[in-house]
Amino acid sequence: MQNSGQKEILSIVVPVCNEEDTIQIFFDAIQEVSLDILVEFLFVDDGSTDGTLSLLRNLSKKNSAVSYISFSRNFGKDAAIYAGMKQSRGDFVAIMDVDLQDPPELLPEMLASVKTGKYDSVGTRRSNRSGEGRVRSWFSVQFYKLINKMSETQLVYGVRDFRVMNRQMVNGILQLCENQRFSKGIFAWVGFRTKYIPYENHKRVAGNSSWTFVELFKYAVEGIVSFSTVPLTIVALIGLITFFLSVMAGIFIVIRALVSNTSVAGWPSMVTIILFIGGLQMLSIGVIGRYLSAIFIESKHRPIYIAKEIHHSSRFIQ
Ligand code: UDP
Ligand code: MG
Repeated sequence: MQNSGQKEILSIVVPVCNEEDTIQIFFDAIQEVSLDILVEFLFVDDGSTDGTLSLLRNLSKKNSAVSYISFSRNFGKDAAIYAGMKQSRGDFVAIMDVDLQDPPELLPEMLASVKTGKYDSVGTRRSNRSGEGRVRSWFSVQFYKLINKMSETQLVYGVRDFRVMNRQMVNGILQLCENQRFSKGIFAWVGFRTKYIPYENHKRVAGNSSWTFVELFKYAVEGIVSFSTVPLTIVALIGLITFFLSVMAGIFIVIRALVSNTSVAGWPSMVTIILFIGGLQMLSIGVIGRYLSAIFIESKHRPIYIAKEIHHSSRFIQ
């Protein structure tokens, strides 16, 4: 059905990276959900190397409500979310993973809450972490604790990228043009009234998660560096305390030499102290280096993504 200009539109933004097995299943699952709104699909192909792009081309030919953007390479899920939001035309925008870990049956409830105007956004969070390794779970719990202690931007525990927003909030998010996009932090940083719905973790419907543990760790560090400068303060504090202690020790040694005239051959403790301070310095330089690299990357003002192929849907479905 063509948009008559009266009915509101929901844009469903779906980042996809090597997802040829899941896209059709996802698309069919969404059709099952009854949404009282016009819908456009916006798939963002994040540099897939499998048949994802040709599948999207076919899907858009068969269904005129399907748009897609295909990146020139892999720019990451957060860049894909940004690109999708930028291309979206809806009064409301939903962000969803394609692997059905974000249950489509929650969409009507989420949309209804935003439509009432009481909330600008409805987010989701996982109430459990079944289907995930213990070590991975432990690290992610620690990550939320750490970032909430260090940053003024508070993250809800287990928050997902799955959410529905109104146009106002989407436009707010699009104003943040940073390259290193930590979406969860950005969603929180822009403010607006947000409600969170908890749900049980689901397993991927097909295919594999493309995140390794190391990638997740890097992502966590990026999140902290993007939203907190507390590590810099801690490093500066440690430096100050160490400096103060060494001055005191120096004074003590001089006085002791003057008073008692005994020199102790204590080189093992000396080496330990040198190693300790050397280690601290390296650590501090490392922390500062992380911030420096963040500034370095942002200072280039590179685009967040480069699109190779864009297809706009001609119609919306109801
Ligand atoms: N994704 C993406 N770019 C990437 C990695 C993932 O667009 O570099 C997409 C992926 O296709 C999926 C969503 O992001 O739709 C979530 O990815 P995944 O299921 O691998 O992550 P997990 O659920 O394990 O956090
Ligand atoms: Mg997943």
